[in-house]
Amino acid sequence: MTDDCIFCKIAKGEIPSRKVYEDDEILAFHDINPSAPVHFLVIPKKHIASMQDLAAADVPLLGRMQVLIPRLALEQGCRPGPEGGFRLIANNGADGGQEVPHLHYHVVGGPRPWKRNQ
Ligand code: 5GP
Ligand code: ZN
Repeated sequence: MTDDCIFCKIAKGEIPSRKVYEDDEILAFHDINPSAPVHFLVIPKKHIASMQDLAAADVPLLGRMQVLIPRLALEQGCRPGPEGGFRLIANNGADGGQEVPHLHYHVVGGPRPWKRNQ
């Protein structure tokens, strides 16, 4: 936990969010500024600043997140199959365009066109 980290505060419930999924280790919540019909964020509850800060011990957590993501995407309205799908984005560090320094995956999808047709 980093005291001034906005996503740590969301994970602890100190800042409200529209939750998509929660368990002991993982939280998913809607992005406050969605760029597509489906746009939610998946975070580890523990503070990991970015992908560059991952350790080998985090592999099981990452595996759980990876398996969870397509399931949540479908639940949130992304269509199944090759004509459906979603985009998974992880910005890392300043050069990666990361604005919130707590590891997070953007899950972006729904029928195109999107607001930002990335
Ligand atoms: P980044 O550029 O770090 O990959 O993306 C950070 C994302 O977090 C942005 O899409 C932004 O809209 C979202 N975000 C920033 N602050 C909040 C917040 O307080 N609540 C929610 N739900 N999303 C946030
Ligand atoms: Zn944090």
